[in-house]
Amino acid sequence: MVILSHTNPDGDAVGSSIAWAEALRRAGHDVVCIVPNKYPYYLDWMTGIGDVVIHRTEPDRAAAAVAEADVIFCLDFHSLSRLDSLGDMIAANTTAKRVLIDHHLNPSEAFDVMFSHPEASSTSYLVYKLIEAVWGAESVTAKQAEVMYVGMMTDTGNFSFSTLTPDLYRALAVLAGTGIDIPQIHNNVYNSFTEGRARLFGYAINRKMKMLRKGTVAYMSLTEEEMRRFWFQQGDSEGFVNYPLTVKKMRMSAIFIEHKDFIRVSLRSRGAVDVNLFAGRYFEGGGHHNAAGGKSFVSMEETIARFEAAVEEFAREGLV
Ligand code: 5GP
Ligand code: MN
Repeated sequence: MVILSHTNPDGDAVGSSIAWAEALRRAGHDVVCIVPNKYPYYLDWMTGIGDVVIHRTEPDRAAAAVAEADVIFCLDFHSLSRLDSLGDMIAANTTAKRVLIDHHLNPSEAFDVMFSHPEASSTSYLVYKLIEAVWGAESVTAKQAEVMYVGMMTDTGNFSFSTLTPDLYRALAVLAGTGIDIPQIHNNVYNSFTEGRARLFGYAINRKMKMLRKGTVAYMSLTEEEMRRFWFQQGDSEGFVNYPLTVKKMRMSAIFIEHKDFIRVSLRSRGAVDVNLFAGRYFEGGGHHNAAGGKSFVSMEETIARFEAAVEEFAREGLV
């Protein structure tokens, strides 16, 4: 069996994959977890993360596992396009059953079995519910609890911005009951950045944050040159896009991060402002109502100009 998650894997992608793999292995299955590219360094400490195959660095190992798989689990993404070149390899295995376990809106391909729950705050929570339903809450080990906790914590902005249901807290109570060290997990994820990241953050907020529409929409941009100046490592810009929303009347925030072949767009919003719609309409992306992303294939200047025009159009329709 193969468990796949999305490009630029985050805490939920990796956490849900590792926990689900552990459950399947204990049920006697041979399981390989694969992600398209490297996860951010602040997840390196997670138990079992070393066994996750990174397609970009080990394409042959990933290809062999996918070719041999009878079942392919797709966790925390809704479309094979979120896998980059790994997507073609999956499409080539036409005999394996495909199972989706995900909380993104509008799953776009056919799956043999679908656990698609856009109302769920994380895929880790969905994996928890599956484990609970199949093997019982008492089957959850501390190792599984730790990685699922990471997914639930990171996808809800440390239990602040997503749909927080009583049942999520019941799941968290079970995880806590396994004896995991929650303050330590929090420290490992949120207080393990580099000095460069702290300085880049200060620079981005102080020098690069621009406001539109009377301070209700904010955006920042970072070029490759700027990131190099602060010894950028993948994961260093994580969370920057949330910060403008700490300003009281802010409704929407965006960040543009330059990569070799494109600019990655991240969007966040408060309340009714639908950045899933915004990302789909203007940046070939999607995600969730209040957290979405996409890509831009033009220059930074042009990307910013397009964003500003898109915000105006959105505002004319009363959407922001
Ligand atoms: P982030 O801004 O943290 O990279 O992503 C926020 C949310 O938007 C995540 O749920 C992620 O899955 C989704 N997202 C990010 N980039 C893309 C993209 O290029 N396409 C789609 N469809 N969703 C994306
Ligand atoms: Mn997720």
